[in-house]
Amino acid sequence: MLHIHTESVDSATHTETLFTHLECPACGLTYSADVVRTVCEDVNCLSSLFARYDLSSGFSKESLKGRAATMWRYKEFLPVVETENIVTLGEGFTPIIPLLNLKHMAGSNEVLWKDEAGNPTGSFKARGIGAAVSKAKELGITTIVTPTAGNAGGALAAFAARAGIKAVVYMPKLTPQVFKDECRLYGAELIEVDGNISDCGKLANEQATANGWFQVSTLKEPYRLEGKKTMGYEIAEQLNWQLPDVILYPTGGGTGLIGIWKAFDEMEQLGWIGNERPRMVAVQSESCNGIVQAFHGEQVSSAFVDGGFTIANGLRVPKPYADKIILKVLRDSEGTALSVPDAQMSEALKEIARNEGMLIAPEGAALWQAFKYLKATGWIKEQEQVLLLNTGSGYKYLENIEIS
Ligand SMILES: *Cc1c(COP(=O)(O)O)cnc(C)c1O
Ligand SMILES: [Zn+2]
Repeated sequence: MLHIHTESVDSATHTETLFTHLECPACGLTYSADVVRTVCEDVNCLSSLFARYDLSSGFSKESLKGRAATMWRYKEFLPVVETENIVTLGEGFTPIIPLLNLKHMAGSNEVLWKDEAGNPTGSFKARGIGAAVSKAKELGITTIVTPTAGNAGGALAAFAARAGIKAVVYMPKLTPQVFKDECRLYGAELIEVDGNISDCGKLANEQATANGWFQVSTLKEPYRLEGKKTMGYEIAEQLNWQLPDVILYPTGGGTGLIGIWKAFDEMEQLGWIGNERPRMVAVQSESCNGIVQAFHGEQVSSAFVDGGFTIANGLRVPKPYADKIILKVLRDSEGTALSVPDAQMSEALKEIARNEGMLIAPEGAALWQAFKYLKATGWIKEQEQVLLLNTGSGYKYLENIEIS
């Protein structure tokens, strides 16, 4: 499928968004959306907040036809009110690419990659950050800060540059150089932290509180989720409104997994799809697999797990803020969770590169390994259609990949 960057938004003043308010999915409290919000304000709750829309309007999926090939084609279900506040670099509407030369390894299963590598700044973080920066601009925010394992920092730096907002990024020192260089090139202030993303999060929080900056940490800000959910809309639209049987997702903070699931709910309420759902699979790095442990240990939340460095830096999230929601999605979908060691990710990355011509991120490569395992154990059944999300470009990770 072509990924054409045409005029990204139409010229109307209002986006005609159907966005109405924010809601806490845990305790049900609702919040107005015309001021800056973070998480649920009930101190016993503190859940991530979800954007809610008027889904009873009868908005038809036929109206999408002919719209620009970016995530803003779903603008009715994104939170920006004024068109001039949309900050876009053409993110979204990425291609779905079927497995070709490795098809024999998939047997009767159809395996599809949704390839996010072509997004601005080389990862699907452009979707979440694009939505968050746009809404931040609409709410008058002038300085925005995030802790990051790498890709979110670059995306924030780029979208903030375009929006004319100052960006401050906290990133672990052990991240490949290119992730740092891109932040600086886009004009962000980059602080390298001797530690993991949780340490970055603590520092970002202290400085944000002291200086009055707005934080867009994963799922402590409501709109990154909205950008990432557009993957769910695209999967449905690109597969002609017939969802796959299984979706594998490389899980760090879980935004994409939760977002895709939220999109399916919204589309069902819109009458665009039925009530059938894919089984959702969280794939993690063996060194940082708190969700996998909690899922199989029948826990409702995850413990802090950090086994140190992984080449899949996007997966080094010791305790996702929305761990409970991630685990609930896995269970509601009758999915599962598993982890992959670095050496296997590296091998899978090379296998896909050599045979399929795609240089995918180690996070994406983990899914290919997970697919082979789930197929071998029979968890993935004959004939099932399986979608793997390659969340980023492998080009940014090469300093940690041994070329042999
Ligand atoms: C951030 C990131 C992830 C994890 O995404 P979450 O939505 O936080 O789970 C996976 N892959 C890549 C390439 C990333 O940058
Ligand atoms: Zn709440």
